[in-house]
Amino acid sequence: MAVVGGGFLAVEVASTAAALGNEVTWLCRSRQPLTGTVGGHAARELGERLGGITVRTGVSVAGFAGRTAVTGAVLQDGETVPADVVLVAVGHRPALGYLDPAVFGTRHGVPVDERLETAVPGVFAAGDVASFVDPFVGARVRHGTWRNAQEQARTAAGAMLGDPAPYRSVPWSWSDHFGTNVQVAGQVDETAEIVERRGTRGVTWFYLDGGRVVGAVGIDAGRDVRAAMLLMEGGVPVDPAAVADPAVDLRATTGVTPA
Ligand SMILES: Cc1cc2nc3c(=O)[nH]c(=O)nc-3n(C[C@H](O)[C@H](O)[C@H](O)COP(=O)(O)OP(=O)(O)OC[C@H]3O[C@@H](n4cnc5c(N)ncnc54)[C@H](O)[C@@H]3O)c2cc1C
Repeated sequence: MAVVGGGFLAVEVASTAAALGNEVTWLCRSRQPLTGTVGGHAARELGERLGGITVRTGVSVAGFAGRTAVTGAVLQDGETVPADVVLVAVGHRPALGYLDPAVFGTRHGVPVDERLETAVPGVFAAGDVASFVDPFVGARVRHGTWRNAQEQARTAAGAMLGDPAPYRSVPWSWSDHFGTNVQVAGQVDETAEIVERRGTRGVTWFYLDGGRVVGAVGIDAGRDVRAAMLLMEGGVPVDPAAVADPAVDLRATTGVTPA
């Protein structure tokens, strides 16, 4: 099997296919797979856990070999990587053909305001398709995650019933592969101050801006990522030394308690 793409879906399929006894080649355009999804620190650590597969980085797939069935993935330099099955996981685009772009302003998604209402009063958009200004990112984005779809559905339903509360939810996603759980919350901004918190079981990288947590990536460290989300939700100032110390209970020191 050849798996094309450097994100969560690709690595999850590669992991599952390998566990089922298949010979897997993972083809990634980037030098370090998963960097765009989890940042450089976590990507490097996860890269060391990719057991039992062949990883080819810095390669681009130009096409496929085979007449009646696929026999391989053809790279840009002409090399063919043999495969009976190829999985391409290189991103997605919302299908917007049924919406008039002049009316809805659609481009890469359906633009909505903070209550998820589109440019047309009474028409709302939520989930993967909705393009909104995320206060936790500070930019107009679309999130393709389960949590975003679930939480935006709540806000949109409330807005339809007259609730003025804006959409406000820390972005969060996860992945399980190669025996590892990875969680990403908030913004993975490589220009931010990055604080590593390494415990006996897992490791979390906290992304800080102006003394506040703006993002976190945890490997086998769900509890720390959850604490980071509470800190982001509350906009709580943190001490980087305390964040780095796995002996410090982050929730207790900040006084933040789960809702
Ligand atoms: C393989 C895969 C694995 C994933 N794994 C994870 C994960 O581990 N964690 C995570 O957080 N997220 C994951 N996601 C992303 C997550 O599934 C999506 O973010 C979520 O499903 C988005 O929900 P949604 O309701 O916005 O869109 P969708 O679930 O895509 O639902 C949209 C629905 O609208 C229908 N539709 C589209 N156009 C029209 C039309 N014109 N008329 C009528 N119906 C229409 C579609 O058929 C579809 O049923 C994964 C996605 C994929 C593809």
